Amino acid sequence: MDYKKLAERLLPNTPSIDGFETKYPPRNLEKGAQVTRLAPSPTGFIHLGNLFVAIANERIAHQSGGILYLRIEDTDLKRKMDGAVEAVKNALRYFDIKFDEGAEIDGDNTYAPWYQRQRADIYRAYVKELIIRGRAYPCFCTEDELSALREQQSAEKKITGYYGEYAKCRNLTEEEIYKNLDAGKPYVIRLKSLGNPENKIKFHDEIKGDITVTENDQDVVILKSDGIPTYHFAHAIDDHFMRTTLVIRGEEWLASLPVHLELFETLGFERPRYGHNCSLMKQDGDVRRKLSKRKDPELSLEFYRQEGYFARAVKVYMLTLLNSNFEEWYLKNPEKPLEEFKFTIGKMGKSGTLFDLDKLNDISKNELARLFVEEMLAFLKAWACEYGTDEQKAYFKDEEYLLKVLNLTMGTAGKKRRKDFTTAKQAVELISYFFAKQPRTDEYRVDKSTRKEILNTFLASYEYSDDAQVWFNKVKEAAGKLGFAAEMKDYKANPEAYKGSVADVAEVLRIAVTGKANTPDLWSIMQILGEKETRARIESATKE
Ligand code: GLU
Repeated sequence: MDYKKLAERLLPNTPSIDGFETKYPPRNLEKGAQVTRLAPSPTGFIHLGNLFVAIANERIAHQSGGILYLRIEDTDLKRKMDGAVEAVKNALRYFDIKFDEGAEIDGDNTYAPWYQRQRADIYRAYVKELIIRGRAYPCFCTEDELSALREQQSAEKKITGYYGEYAKCRNLTEEEIYKNLDAGKPYVIRLKSLGNPENKIKFHDEIKGDITVTENDQDVVILKSDGIPTYHFAHAIDDHFMRTTLVIRGEEWLASLPVHLELFETLGFERPRYGHNCSLMKQDGDVRRKLSKRKDPELSLEFYRQEGYFARAVKVYMLTLLNSNFEEWYLKNPEKPLEEFKFTIGKMGKSGTLFDLDKLNDISKNELARLFVEEMLAFLKAWACEYGTDEQKAYFKDEEYLLKVLNLTMGTAGKKRRKDFTTAKQAVELISYFFAKQPRTDEYRVDKSTRKEILNTFLASYEYSDDAQVWFNKVKEAAGKLGFAAEMKDYKANPEAYKGSVADVAEVLRIAVTGKANTPDLWSIMQILGEKETRARIESATKE
């Protein structure tokens, strides 16, 4: 067969491969510097697994004095979504993942373009080259024929796909090929695989260690009928010409590894090292399963921004899961920039990692408790501006007032801090009673008439200018007057003798003012709210 003639017919006006190696020269980096990448498809859905590998790739690149770049794998138009690249970049920016180069990144463009659709000439040149070498061929099988083949293979309990004896178009004669072409039949270009599934290949995975994979024998599609390559082919070309040295990616790509190995070999490219990161699992009752897009909102990175998770907390948790020695380091160095931790691939987990939202929430509480009130204000404000209701946005008009609220709700820095805040959304909801009377979220434990008595007795002696001590003495007096123990010890010694204790009286006041049974110091809350507002809330509570 005259492959050169065939290549010319299939891909006319396609330049030869000469020149690409010099156009995209090896990078001039220090020895040991790693070039890593993130290569998302622009589907608009960016998930925790992406962040996981993003952190690992970013750390390894920057720790080694190398490069992290962003490549957009948009070969599949059906899955493309408008604004997806912006969404990816925003999501990663929130977690402080800094790219040095890539799509819409202000950086060196030697290795551009960064969108696969804009690189068609490179891919086509290499497809043409493979046809010339007899390592790729046109396939005219229709969708119907391929699905019939799949059914037949399933019925025969054979591996499905286009390979060996089933690869019909692999053996077409020159005459048949030209006849099909002359008839205008659509076609794809497939790799002519030389692999044999009987052969096992030893492969060193940077995360999993030495593993054995089966040689590929599938004649995978490399160029689709629209002239755009498949992801497999494009990524091999790109990783080579973007001079990638290391790829950390999700283990769902392990199944494609044999194809990738054969592609690199066939193309004559030195391949990057690969590390396949284990999947994120969730404990769901008794079963441990993979996080699912359908069932688990926490899989999407958008979830963390909408809920207002503190980016550093998420990163701390991710690093805890990614490197087994991180937790210990962090315990010793809680104030240090996370970049100072020495990240190692060897410390990454080899099998499924359990992702636990409760654990993240605990970390978040600790991280938020470490902020200065001004930092907390800025964090809450940024969340509210983007995701808050109009009412919540208005909380930020009077920053002085808000600082008082945060000082109280966070507790004094240096001393033991309260850990009431988990996320920005939850924090803003939690402080809402400082801005307007809120619907009650906790029930009173005393009956209506006793409640009324308590509230009225309190109001009768309430003075805004009372200090905390005088104020509390008045609450005690009210308690005593109404048959509650003014001192806890009296109540404990003889609970039968009282309706309850001063704590029950204070709780009624607390719920009346805030709607909640559990808040920071009530006297301080009343001081912040002011006399008028405090009285108004208590009065209205007497009518509830
Ligand atoms: N485009 C692939 C994805 O969407 C990237 C796979 C890889 O990293 O090689 O996940």
